[in-house]
Amino acid sequence: MQRISIFGSTGSIGQNTVDLIERQGGAERYDVVALSGAGNIALLAEQAKSLRADIAITADPTKLDALKEALSGTGIEVAAGSAALVEAAARPCDWTMCAIVGAAGLPPTLAAARQGGTIALANKESLVCAGELVPKVIAEAGGVLLPVDSEHSAIFQCLQGERRADVDRVILTASGGPFRTWSLAQMRDATLAQAVAHPNWDMGQRISIDSASMFNKALEVIEAKYLFGLEADQVEVVVHPQSIVHSMVGFKDAAIIAQLGAPDMRGAIGYALNYPERANLPVERLDFATLGALDFASPDLERFPALRLVKDVLRAGGLAGAVFNAAKERAMDAFIGGKIGFLDMAARVEDTLAALAPGGEHITSLEQVVEIDGIARAHVAAQIDRMGERNVHA
Ligand code: NAD
Ligand code: MG
Repeated sequence: MQRISIFGSTGSIGQNTVDLIERQGGAERYDVVALSGAGNIALLAEQAKSLRADIAITADPTKLDALKEALSGTGIEVAAGSAALVEAAARPCDWTMCAIVGAAGLPPTLAAARQGGTIALANKESLVCAGELVPKVIAEAGGVLLPVDSEHSAIFQCLQGERRADVDRVILTASGGPFRTWSLAQMRDATLAQAVAHPNWDMGQRISIDSASMFNKALEVIEAKYLFGLEADQVEVVVHPQSIVHSMVGFKDAAIIAQLGAPDMRGAIGYALNYPERANLPVERLDFATLGALDFASPDLERFPALRLVKDVLRAGGLAGAVFNAAKERAMDAFIGGKIGFLDMAARVEDTLAALAPGGEHITSLEQVVEIDGIARAHVAAQIDRMGERNVHA
């Protein structure tokens, strides 16, 4: 039986992954090693029982007793905290879904990578923060890295049977998010509820806010660089509001190969779960006769400064991605908490990049990333403190 683990099983990607696994035979077909969550203990326990996991881990140590109680008498091991996540990720496994949100996903991703199994990577922050380290560790361990982000899964699919040397560029599509047509003034006053209301994709809160600011696309540009070994000028972004073309690859003979489908993450998750085969997935089939027009436009770098900032981050390389992500995560905490406005997030990131001036470092260890991550977060926190106490959502 194939041994599988899902880190972040209670999240949006995690629940979709569990759904596909259940549909494809569940505990009868898969030997489930580890499942992890954070706050939603009832869901984590239900998943662990249904898939007969060896161990269930909550990232939140204050939830350990609740998890113990929910799984008492089942024989399923329970644990809590970040060290427990890393320990569970280090257990032998053939296929691991890394679907924790944020830089918190990096330590378990690296631990799983060292196993030599297949890494289905939804946690784009692992690549943004640690650059070539994750692909390098996976390659050295003899494992396979499969992207789960829909754009990168699309590119990966477009590259099947192609020679990397023939690739000229990749074109990431972006829906444009809920503020695609908003003015800068409207965006300045955007509320949390408006920022999480994505028009096409049903996702976790944090990636939804990132989609509204297009920080998500900026992270994906960096993700593409490290997944596919591209130069900074080989990654393009085009706004495509329908989210039907999931991304494209341009080759040196001017041919472009695109991957299309309904906007449903089970497509990309199911591809990674069944690779190199394709399974019959519960994803809506496209009907071109009723689809109508597909639109494409350049992104507006003034309203979406994340896409301007990422160009420097890409060129700088090294720890610039870790600073970019950590500053963005900390600024997002402040936006969610009502401390800063929507556009302040990019301003805080820009300021932090200018102050820390990262770039060029050779990333060889997790510790390097953790250290700079902490420095960047502290820098943003200090900036926000200087802005004074306020509640922008009030
Ligand atoms: P989510 O917020 O719905 O779920 C996150 C999961 O991580 C949950 O299981 C949560 O309990 C766990 N978690 C949260 N904080 C944690 C911490 N500090 N330590 C350990 N675990 C923690 O997020 P999501 O939308 O499923 O996204 C997961 C990852 O996949 C992100 O990196 C995101 O960028 C990426 N992704 C998501 C989508 C999508 O459609 N949701 C698409 C592409 C990529
Ligand atoms: Mg994506």
